Order: sequence, then C-alpha cells, then structure tokens
Amino acid sequence: MRKKYYYWEKTRRIELMPRDELLELQWKKLRYMINYAYNNTILYHEKWDKAGIKPEDIKSKDDFQKKAPLITKDDIREKMKQGDPYGGTLGVPPEKLHCIASSSGTTGLPTLVGLTKEGWEIHRDEYARVTAMVGCKPGYKILLGGVRWHSGWAAGLYDEACRLLGMTVISSDGLGLHPFMINRNLYYAQHLKPEVLWQFPSTFIRMEEEAKKSGLDPEKIFSCFKIMILGGEPVLPNLRRKWETNYGAEIFEWGGYGSDLCCVFLECQEHHGKHVCEDLFFIEDLDPENLEPVAPMERGRVVLSTLWNEATPHIRFATEDVLTYDPEICNCGRTHMRVWQLGRMTDIVNVKDKRILPWDVESILREIPETETVEYMLVRYAKGPLAKLKVHIEYTPTMGEKEGVKRKIEREISDKLGIPVEIEFVSKEAIMEKQKLKAIRVLDTTDQP
Ligand SMILES: [Zn+2]
Repeated sequence: MRKKYYYWEKTRRIELMPRDELLELQWKKLRYMINYAYNNTILYHEKWDKAGIKPEDIKSKDDFQKKAPLITKDDIREKMKQGDPYGGTLGVPPEKLHCIASSSGTTGLPTLVGLTKEGWEIHRDEYARVTAMVGCKPGYKILLGGVRWHSGWAAGLYDEACRLLGMTVISSDGLGLHPFMINRNLYYAQHLKPEVLWQFPSTFIRMEEEAKKSGLDPEKIFSCFKIMILGGEPVLPNLRRKWETNYGAEIFEWGGYGSDLCCVFLECQEHHGKHVCEDLFFIEDLDPENLEPVAPMERGRVVLSTLWNEATPHIRFATEDVLTYDPEICNCGRTHMRVWQLGRMTDIVNVKDKRILPWDVESILREIPETETVEYMLVRYAKGPLAKLKVHIEYTPTMGEKEGVKRKIEREISDKLGIPVEIEFVSKEAIMEKQKLKAIRVLDTTDQP
C-alpha cells in the first residue's frame, strides 16, 4: 500500500480481505439476495418459475451460473408496458422507498431504480469508499460538473458521500454540455480553485474550448485540479497524458452502471484497471455465444448481480457491454477484482480468432500523429470471423502522401492487434452521414470485402 488513505480505517478490512473470505462473503450475500428477489419481486418470481428453478436449487455459485436465468432490460420493459412502472422489480412496499431515480434511457424506455434508506446509505458509502481510494480527503473541494444526472447523485447521494469524507461540494447541476453550465464550471474552477473534478471527458474538452474562446488560459485555470476523475465514456490515452502534463493533475478513470444498477468502478493509484466493490456486486464475464464464463483477461459479456439493493434487486442482469477482468491482488493491496470496459457487444467485429472493438483501433489511431483527431469506422461484412480488419479513415491532405501514410497506419494497427488490417481513406462527410446522437463506429455492409 503506497499511500495512507483518508477513510481507510473504515474500509481497509473489507478492501484488504483475503480473497477466499471475500468470495465466501459474496456468495453468502448472493444467496440471500436470490431468495429475497424470488420471494419479493414479480419479475424474478415469474422468470425463475418459467425456467423451472427455485432458489433452493442453487447450492453454489457454479449452480447459479449454470441454472439461474439471465434478466435483460427488455424483460423489465415488457413488464413496464403492462402498467408496472418498476417493471416487476420492486421488492419493498412503495412507502419504504427513500428515493426513486431512473436510468439514462439512452437505449429505450428509462427503467426505475429505488433505494430504501438502508440501501441509500450503502450506496453512499460505496461512493465515499471509491472517492477516498483516489486520495480525496478533508478540506478538498470537489467540482461535480455535469455528471449529476446519475441516479444516486440526483438524489444528493454523491454530495453526502463527499461530505462524509470532509470535503466541500461545489454544486453544479445536470445541464451537462449546456453553455451556461460549462461557463459556470469555468467560473468555479477559476475563482474557487477546487482540488478535485469529477466529469465526462467530452464535457471537459468543452470546458477547455470555452476557456480559450473567453481568452482564458486553460493551463492557469485547470492547474487547481490535483485529482481529475474522468469517465462514463472512453478516456483516450493521448488526451489523458496531455491533461496530466498540462494541468499536473492525477487522472483516475471511472465507469460502471451508476444510473440504474448503483455500481461504480474506479481506478486506484496503481492506474491499472478499475476496482469493483465485490462485497456489493457479483460480476460475471460470459462468452457472448455460449454464455460460459470466460477466463480472466478474456473478453466477455458483463452480467451483474447486486448484493444489497432490496428495493429494486438485480440478479443476473445481462448488460450489452464487454469487459475483461483481473482477479489477482492489485499492487495497491486491494483484493477486489479490476475490470476494463471495452465497448458494446453490438460493436464486436470478429477477425480471425479475435473480438475487435472500436476502442482497440481508436486507442492506436490517437497515438499516431497523422490520425490523432480523424474520424473512423470499422467495416463489418458478416458477424462471423473475417480474414482481416477493414477500417475507413478520414483523409486530410495534411496527413501527407496517401500510400505511405496508409501503410504506416496499417502496420501500426496490425502489429498491435496481431491481425491483418486494410485501411481505406474516405471523406469526413462519408463517415459523418452515418453518425447518430451517439458516435457510430461500426459500419455494417453486405458489400464483399
Ligand atoms: Zn488497486
């Protein structure tokens, strides 16, 4: 353990718990929640009955992974259409709910999440624990810019987590990219000099742009940040390095399923993967085709069970995301697994025996000076394995002679990913016309390669 953390006395027992004890504790809580969800929610009762499974059939984690049915957002939405706003997930009488929030709804109808008072406190303590993990401590001011639409945060939960650590919360709000909010955040940074920023990278980029537009020097303004917690979307390695160099902050990446599963992942000071609080969540990483668990560091579909939320339990909730995990003890001493979120299942392009995601290519492109800011798309001709990866890349004359730069990019990607690669230069417009509200990075086509 390199540093002494504030709040550590409260959390060190669980964070350093020997892994076998941690897994035993996890199983005990999981077994309790299986029974709880089956006996107290309509959705799980019906789903398990339909699968012919009773909680008493599950005698081990192995049983659980073989027999327990997966639940998807569509299962919940199906119930919502029948008139139940909670989609059959409500596990307590409504009057016991301490707060109600919803998922972001980026993939369809937003689903509700509830917390009892006890659940709210557990979730708050989870945030306090991870915030302390990155070195936050009493006296630090934190600017919560634009990310407060997350369920717990909307209910003031995150503010309270920071206050538990003795920090001062500079209240921003959920307007995110709205120019008013960007400028308000700039004002806060300039005049209050918060030591900590929690933000989306894209919003921080906008803050930098607005600062420059207003004639302010970003290096001067943002040098107040000692800690920048960035995530919710990919944090590109080249930007991360640039920000660390320009502003002198230590950057920590966050992720998870904050808005509907109340789960947060955060990097520790080793900066090698994001820790999961495994006493609060059971994460499975499953082969997308046969749904068998994949080995550590292999790519699988994330399936998550919440071990504490009785208000709206989630048992084997199948997300659409891909991650890898490492269960080995971290150099920081924590025994809880680390994960790397890599993208969406629907974006997988199978090339030979590899599952390639846009992130693999983007993180390489951003390291090549000629392609640091260009638009790109992976091209997918079929779901089955392709012989080589094809990538469309925006070409601009400043990149230099076409053939030479094409070969250079192909070589870089091919060497790093270990697969044959073919680049085709296209116009920016050709890529932009395929874009929707969120960036589309995979182009499906029936044309032959
Ligand atoms: Zn660690």
